[in-house]
Amino acid sequence: MKSKLAAAFTALACLACPAAWANEPVWDANKVVLKSEKLRDGVYAMVPANADQLSPKGVPLATTSGIIIGSRGSLVVDTMLNKRLADMVLNEVRRLTKGSPTYAMNTSYHGDHSYGNMYFPKSTVIIQHEETKKYISTNFEADTKFMMGAFGKGRGIEQIKPRTGDVLIPKGGMLQVDLGGRVVEIRDFGFAQTGGDLWVWVPDAKVIFAGNPVVTEKPGIPWLLDGRVQETLDSLSRVRDFLPADAIIVPGHGRPMPKAGLDWHIGYLTALRDETKAAVAKGATVEQAVSQVTLPNYQGYAIFDWIHKQVNVPAAYKELKK
Ligand SMILES: [Zn+2]
Repeated sequence: MKSKLAAAFTALACLACPAAWANEPVWDANKVVLKSEKLRDGVYAMVPANADQLSPKGVPLATTSGIIIGSRGSLVVDTMLNKRLADMVLNEVRRLTKGSPTYAMNTSYHGDHSYGNMYFPKSTVIIQHEETKKYISTNFEADTKFMMGAFGKGRGIEQIKPRTGDVLIPKGGMLQVDLGGRVVEIRDFGFAQTGGDLWVWVPDAKVIFAGNPVVTEKPGIPWLLDGRVQETLDSLSRVRDFLPADAIIVPGHGRPMPKAGLDWHIGYLTALRDETKAAVAKGATVEQAVSQVTLPNYQGYAIFDWIHKQVNVPAAYKELKK
């Protein structure tokens, strides 16, 4: 799995980025600034400050985090890549609550969503999926090496020590966390990118924090780093069925969007599956499938050539060829 991800990022560095980025990470964790965006009373997204300008243009952005506050406690969604970014979130919690977070959770094992765990106070209870803890417990060293390759050295990854979950959510599980006057639900809707994918639903505010399975708004498209197009499609469809029409979705890397924004991702995955299936039925090789499944309506993402042609189509081909 890791080598596939590493190969994908190498391809990204070589092929998909403008020349000026060639030796630079997609976003620089030493430079990103997060701004706090209030969605409802006591519900905030910590969004990359350049999101309004760049996200609609399809430029990949840094991780988005969340803060949910009740009368007795608070919960942070995703702890970011390094100390600098984790501190931005922690400082905002302190500013809003005059205290430290009661809970922090990780939407996946990806380092930009979980490495910051170690910078949270000992008193903060860490919540993870069982699969996330399993992954970190067995792959941590290789994971940090890979992340340094993707995000650069000197970005604070060298200092990271693993801190795994105190409370674990099993496959298909759901945990209700009572923050006082507000119950938050942490849900597993099925495989959506890593197999340890957790979503945070705030029913009274109608806000859901998605993590990477909804990476960003249109024209961004899903990253099928571990393949499984049909399961991913099923899980996103379950989320769509679950959410009320006026829900707000906070993506893993971008600005909050209306529920209707999810149709774009489901539409892409459906087109990817159907057209790849048609190519397989005609006896296409994987290279032919890549050149045939062009999906012209979905090409606005700045890294489309990489994520669609080098990751998603080959993954869908392999799955549908079976
Ligand atoms: Zn991420």
